[in-house]
Amino acid sequence: MDTATATATRPAPHASAGLDYDTIIIGAGLSGLYQLYRLRQQGQNVKVFEMGTGVGGTWYWNRYPGCRFDSESYSYGFSWSKEVLEEWDWTEHFAPQPETERYCNFVADKFDLKKDIQFSAKVKAAHYQDDSRSWKVTLTDGSEHTARWLVTAVGPLSAPVFPRIKGRDSYKGEAYHTGLWPKHEVTFEGKNVAVIGTGATGVQAITEIAKTAKTLTVFQRRPNWCKPLRNKQISKAEMDGIRQRYDEIFRKCQESATCFLHTPDMRKTFDVSPEEREAFWEHQYNEPGFSMWVGGFRDMMTNKAANDAVSEFVANKIRERVKDPKVAELLVPKEHGFGTRRVPQESGYYEVYNQDNVKLVSILENPIEEITEKGLRTAEQDYEFDMIVYATGFDAITGAFDRIDIRGAGGQTLKDKWSAGPKTFVGVLVEGFPNMFMLVGPHTALGNIPRSIEYAVEWVDDLIGHLSARGATYANPTPEAEEAWTEVVVKSNEGLLSSEVDSWMTGVNQNVEGKQTRIIARYSGTAPAFREYCDRVAANGYTEIATA
Ligand code: NAP
Repeated sequence: MDTATATATRPAPHASAGLDYDTIIIGAGLSGLYQLYRLRQQGQNVKVFEMGTGVGGTWYWNRYPGCRFDSESYSYGFSWSKEVLEEWDWTEHFAPQPETERYCNFVADKFDLKKDIQFSAKVKAAHYQDDSRSWKVTLTDGSEHTARWLVTAVGPLSAPVFPRIKGRDSYKGEAYHTGLWPKHEVTFEGKNVAVIGTGATGVQAITEIAKTAKTLTVFQRRPNWCKPLRNKQISKAEMDGIRQRYDEIFRKCQESATCFLHTPDMRKTFDVSPEEREAFWEHQYNEPGFSMWVGGFRDMMTNKAANDAVSEFVANKIRERVKDPKVAELLVPKEHGFGTRRVPQESGYYEVYNQDNVKLVSILENPIEEITEKGLRTAEQDYEFDMIVYATGFDAITGAFDRIDIRGAGGQTLKDKWSAGPKTFVGVLVEGFPNMFMLVGPHTALGNIPRSIEYAVEWVDDLIGHLSARGATYANPTPEAEEAWTEVVVKSNEGLLSSEVDSWMTGVNQNVEGKQTRIIARYSGTAPAFREYCDRVAANGYTEIATA
């Protein structure tokens, strides 16, 4: 659908008298960019505050070596602009970060979005003003800005976290966090490099760094189950073919539970013979992308025996690929099954451990005791490094919210409200925080994120349009509506093996104060069911939201 036509006929929005803007958006990643575009189409006066110096969010900050899509490029880009689909060529099935950052800039420039974005603008606080039914946003430079509506487009994986290890500040060599990677060139040639962390990020970075570093020492806590990405270039002719199939591609994503191109096999693991099972997994292992994770037998994530079986298949692949059996065994996860944490996608990751310049240290067996001036010390050994790379992840889902002092009606802090885990209405609104709308915040369907972003942005856009058309200046979900949705979210996680595992998906981060126990952070039902619920709310005139 062409959005420009869809929104052109809307009534002019209610003027936000005495306020600086109609809407303030925090963040200029994919969600912030699209929300800006949509609200501008409504004739709104919108301001985006972005911490970085450029657009792209995740694809701006994560410029570490090896960073690339794990979703098929053409399933990841925006679907809302026919012109962008016509004009943009993806060059790889799983595009590398520089290409994605270029893509974000291409979209922002095409729709002249940057003129409404203030860069290097870090939001320190956002306080709801009861008397004027508006939000006051304070930046770290002390400036204050007001708006009727506040949209948080802060991303679920955007608050980088360093490990809590004694002495980190004393290290004198080069040190980088993957999620805060510098724009200047970083080289590894001739250097002794350490990487701490082996999640989806670490796996990509390690594979790349190992190509040129003099030595690479990987400090692994819990290993992950990785699956080959099987990336390939996209030729011009192939891209033309993809362009012809865009409608079908996006339809498939909309229909699938997690918005990826892959869908589960509707058979159960033990419905088929051992030979058939093995052949199926072999086929999936050789397919690109999330085939094996998202496209597995349908009981893989709920039946322990089924999950053990597929885990054993992947464990044997690791054992085949890593020459030293002791190292291979260190790389086989023992405390969680395949797919119960995010599956990193790799391009030669396991073979890295066959190289002479690479060493794996299990810090479960040999804990890091201290970071020193020249490197680090484990229980067994002192190491010296020219560079330490922290691939230690993010304070996920609620972390970016926690880093802003967000206060709702009566001065209640969001952090307090969520102290026992998030409570939301359809993952977008929070009772007691009127006029605030979250894009892909807690309790939403994540999956192939841009697909979720597009839906969330359009839902928020419709809601703001609805409120504006009625001259409403206040929108706050009822406690009952919030309770009901939170219950749906809790139920959606029941029976899933992933709910029994510590990971960013269950809100656990040992490096963050107060995040040592699991919470229900995500909606784990299907994306179509999520959309159906939200569509119903809109079709019923948003009766679950108190307006004035
Ligand atoms: P992550 O999955 O949370 O991994 C962090 C890693 O650091 C883990 O191996 C963790 O070990 C380790 N770690 C944390 N604190 C440590 C400490 N104090 N000492 C030693 N090790 C420590 O984070 P991530 O790899 O950045 O990935 C986060 C998410 O970003 C992914 O799951 C994915 O959704 C997304 N991502 C997407 C792409 C893509 O699409 N292309 C690429 C990369 C990442 P434990 O496991 O033991 O905690």
